[in-house]
Amino acid sequence: MANIRIITEKCIGCGICIRNCPFNAIKVENKKAIILENCTLCGSCVSSCKFEAIEFEKDEINNTDDLSSYKGVWVFAEQKNSIPAQVSYELLGAGRKLADQLEVPLSAVIIGSGLDEAIKELIAYGADNVYAVDNQALKDYNDELYSDVLTRLIQQYKPEIVLMGATTYGRSLAPRVSSRLNTGLTADCTGLEIDPEKRILLQTRPAFGGNLMATITCPNHRPQMSTVRPKVMKPLEKDASRTGQIIRPEIKLPDEVRTKVVETVSVACEMVNLTEADIIVSAGRGIGDPKNLKLVEELAQVLGGAVGASRAVVDAGWIEYSHQVGQTGKTVCPKVYIACGISGAVQHLAGMSSSDTIIAINNNPDAPIFKIATIGIVGDVLEILPLLINEFKARLGK
Ligand SMILES: Cc1cc2nc3c(=O)[nH]c(=O)nc-3n(C[C@H](O)[C@H](O)[C@H](O)COP(=O)(O)OP(=O)(O)OC[C@H]3O[C@@H](n4cnc5c(N)ncnc54)[C@H](O)[C@@H]3O)c2cc1C
Ligand code: SF4
Ligand code: SF4
Repeated sequence: MANIRIITEKCIGCGICIRNCPFNAIKVENKKAIILENCTLCGSCVSSCKFEAIEFEKDEINNTDDLSSYKGVWVFAEQKNSIPAQVSYELLGAGRKLADQLEVPLSAVIIGSGLDEAIKELIAYGADNVYAVDNQALKDYNDELYSDVLTRLIQQYKPEIVLMGATTYGRSLAPRVSSRLNTGLTADCTGLEIDPEKRILLQTRPAFGGNLMATITCPNHRPQMSTVRPKVMKPLEKDASRTGQIIRPEIKLPDEVRTKVVETVSVACEMVNLTEADIIVSAGRGIGDPKNLKLVEELAQVLGGAVGASRAVVDAGWIEYSHQVGQTGKTVCPKVYIACGISGAVQHLAGMSSSDTIIAINNNPDAPIFKIATIGIVGDVLEILPLLINEFKARLGK
């Protein structure tokens, strides 16, 4: 177990370490530093102490596993009603590049019931192999059963990399599996690459409120596990002529399962399906007043798109959270993203910068959003939106 302690004889109480602790876990009392209970043992403070007054013992790596016995890239193909989720295809697109670079096979693993069509689709979208556990008892997602099955598959076949969607199911399943396997998990990755020398996975994700990008590695344990949000990676073109190997592992399900799905109820609600929309018109604080949202909604309606929003607009209570785009909202990748009065903070860009075409309307020519915009319109959004609405209405005959 890692440990940290202050060597009181060396500590002069300068307090420099306090500024270097991202978790506010150090205080100075009577001119001596004290490590508080909320210390996460991250080790960041150690090098900040010029007096070598912080002693930090790292966990001993006691891994007897032969890492070289792990081969191949796996994508957990999430499904609902036996249909793979779109994120499964996106992960196959990302996994294909990693597998090609490592010169290993790319496999999809699917758990569910009635999976024959799904298996064909996964091969058409890039999988060389599909591991399919097809059982009526696995029809609906179940944390307990799915984590048990996936853990045993990984133990048996030993992939070196496992990618999963950062969806509701994926966020629940991935940590259960990684902790059972005693390996690392990097959540919400926005970039995945292979280190060409070490042949390990470089997992990039926003850190510290999105103000910097951290690249995380898992050098001592296998598999290297990452989750990726929907719409961050691009799927390959579907190729129905591709062929692949289908493996149907015999997995005995546990006799006793503590949780079971009794009933699935679909709730009809007027949720904007932002993540699926081809065109998104998004409102920022620059629209000035909630009543002006109707201009954004009207343009979205004319274009057959969905309405997005910045967090400033959501926090002000002008629109519901389900519309928020960004690091703490949805990640979107539409063909066209129209940002109306949005400054372009990094946390907003984290959710939309992969859009094919970005049109920004802002009255400040120096607004950061213009740095990533394909087309920039400098002007008052309340004057420009009615012009766009009328022009599109005329051109689209609406
Ligand atoms: C941990 C964390 C997570 C976050 N997550 C998110 C997130 O998920 N999504 C998100 O959006 N933000 C997020 N934020 C907040 C983010 O940092 C910004 O504060 C937010 O995106 C700003 O929203 P905005 O661009 O609408 O507002 P502002 O930054 O206030 O920008 C308004 C813009 O409108 C322009 N403008 C003003 N009047 C007009 C006019 N009449 N015509 C045209 N332009 C005009 C201004 O020039 C300005 O550029 C997060 C912040 C933190 C710390
Ligand atoms: S930086 Fe070192 S000397 Fe200064 S308070 Fe922290 S532990 Fe003590
Ligand atoms: S180890 Fe990390 S959390 Fe603990 S006191 Fe040092 S910087 Fe803070």
